[in-house]
Amino acid sequence: MLRREFVTGAGSLAILALASPAKAGFEITRSDAQWRAMLSPLEYKVMRKSGTERAFSSPLDGEKRAGVFHCRGCDLALYSSKHKFDSGTGWPSFWQPVTKRAVGTKPDRKLLITRTECHCSRCGSHLGHVFNDGPKPTGKRHCINGVSLVFKPA
Ligand SMILES: [Zn+2]
Repeated sequence: MLRREFVTGAGSLAILALASPAKAGFEITRSDAQWRAMLSPLEYKVMRKSGTERAFSSPLDGEKRAGVFHCRGCDLALYSSKHKFDSGTGWPSFWQPVTKRAVGTKPDRKLLITRTECHCSRCGSHLGHVFNDGPKPTGKRHCINGVSLVFKPA
């Protein structure tokens, strides 16, 4: 138990990286039981099972204050209000993450058309998908489930 607490602690990231340089996976890992205990059923379904919240269900869709959107799973800063725009889709949308490294992507072939799934780079929690119909300067639209995020006003 001590070891698990040590490994999941935010302060252990640098040590972990040194201890296991070749190990694939995310810096922060939790057991399924731990995720279930810390997340609501909807948050768990979206973040850990790649589910999707109902469109227009998230208060963060209309959030217009300046601030930063953090990962609900590990508190990593993921998106800034500076890059948020109203896509009209009913999901919080951003044209880029707060840093390139914050958000990871991988192909999602669950539908007929291959989409680009995106997730927190630190704990692997599912965020949403990235599409190529966003505004300038990136042309990207990160279509994000609000339940995966925690907004911290500036
Ligand atoms: Zn995370």
